Amino acid sequence: MANQEDIFKKVISHAKEYGYIFQSSEIYDGLSAVYDYGQNGIELKNNIREYWWRAMVQLNDNIVGIDAAIFMHPTTWKASGHVDAFNDPLIDNKDSKKRYRADVLVEDHVAKIEAKIDKEVAKAAKRFGDAFNRQEFLSTNTRVLGYRQKADGILKRLGKSLEKEDLADVKALIEELGIACPLSGSKNWTDVKQFNLMFGTKLGSTAESAMDLYLRPETAQGIFVNFLNVQKTGRMKIPFGIAQTGKAFRNEIVARQFIFRMREFEQMEMQYFIKPGTQKEWYEAWKEKRMKWHLSLGMGEDNYRFHDHEKLAHYADAAADIEFKFPFGFKELEGIHSRTDFDLANHEKYSSKKLQYFDPEENKSYVPYVLETSIGLDRMFLAVFSNALQEEQLANNTTRTVLKLPAVLAPNKAAVLPLVKKDGLPKIAQKMVDDLKWHFNVAYDEKDAVGRRYRRQDAVGTPFCITVDHQTLEDETVTVRHRDSMQQERVAIAEVKGVIEKAVAIKEWLKGV
Ligand code: ATP
Repeated sequence: MANQEDIFKKVISHAKEYGYIFQSSEIYDGLSAVYDYGQNGIELKNNIREYWWRAMVQLNDNIVGIDAAIFMHPTTWKASGHVDAFNDPLIDNKDSKKRYRADVLVEDHVAKIEAKIDKEVAKAAKRFGDAFNRQEFLSTNTRVLGYRQKADGILKRLGKSLEKEDLADVKALIEELGIACPLSGSKNWTDVKQFNLMFGTKLGSTAESAMDLYLRPETAQGIFVNFLNVQKTGRMKIPFGIAQTGKAFRNEIVARQFIFRMREFEQMEMQYFIKPGTQKEWYEAWKEKRMKWHLSLGMGEDNYRFHDHEKLAHYADAAADIEFKFPFGFKELEGIHSRTDFDLANHEKYSSKKLQYFDPEENKSYVPYVLETSIGLDRMFLAVFSNALQEEQLANNTTRTVLKLPAVLAPNKAAVLPLVKKDGLPKIAQKMVDDLKWHFNVAYDEKDAVGRRYRRQDAVGTPFCITVDHQTLEDETVTVRHRDSMQQERVAIAEVKGVIEKAVAIKEWLKGV
């Protein structure tokens, strides 16, 4: 089996080769941690966004959407705490001159300990075969328990030190664990410092009148400042939610791992306004609801896990991540945060405007509490794409590269292929494309042997190939080939739309959510 690094390299090169993701400004050698989406990438990205939006806004009676501007009044970021507290702890290696996030260095160290646990589990599973009980093994095996204790201890200490802003202890921890620069192996570290992640810019044409602004580092604040506008004009009753998707910007210290950590990225966030005191139950409810949404895509239950936060952000009283198994291990995909009344109360204070809800049942006004779900669209893209990319060994000793995207998300739902470029077959195929394109994206391909065209569509992730052949001329049927099973069936032209629609309809996928 190829190692993690090789798999990840394949993901990146496949994304480029098939028009999914390009390095930004590539002809100028690119811009670090900024990426462009190509002709297939934009379709997949739009489909993920729609899958989220429909589940959030369309299927919940009490959630509505907005689209706030990226620029916001600068006091927003004072009130939200981002000016003072949106920092990451950075550390430099004196020998390699490389810069790292101190917390990430420690977390990577912990991931290595966790990998040892996985190894023990794999060994035991092999030894015990069918009789293997994973849960029991994890809770009784002394070696595993030792690793677990060590990992938890390190994370706890890191969380505590970061919370207290005890940066000296973060450095001490890095030294005690003997963490070396991954590039040079050197353990010669500077002190740990805080670094603010917001990008500054200016509004206005003259130097004197220009106003200092920030590019928003999260979309959430656009929702908070519009909370009363939406509540009043929509006559919303608590509990209710406001959803938004849009760009966010962070000057990340180390931008690695492709589109996992970008400097310009997109978020899909929902703020749920609730009665103070009910945050625990809504926190649990949204954790469960969001996990169900992820599982509905059928990307494997084992690829997800919850991770409860030790260190809470400046605004939260409880927080958990939904982590996904990326090619480089389990990492945060989505955050679920109980934000209390931190944001609204601060905006009240800084704006001197009341941001309260009159509760007719309680007959009083209060600042609502907020439960947030926040997922990175690009990160979700990476989860879907990397999980889908597979090399399959076929019976005839060849391999095929196939992108097993959930059909509901695939850029093209079908490709129509005339078997040969003559005998009137292209005309029929083209007519099918013209009919089907009113319902979903369809591609047309007549170049090369049909087997090669199948492989091309497999690699780009198209769930169905429809082949028009000589039999079509006789009985108006075509071959429908399924991407994942490679099975083919004969279907009447008139029924093709129905077959595909059933497989790709959002309704079919979201039914269980
Ligand atoms: P991390 O710990 O990875 O830096 P975070 O905890 O700062 O992430 P949040 O502020 O909770 O992230 O943001 C919510 C979501 O936005 C994350 O779960 C992630 O999916 C996405 N996200 C955050 N930063 C980035 C980034 N630099 N590039 C791409 N997606 C991001």
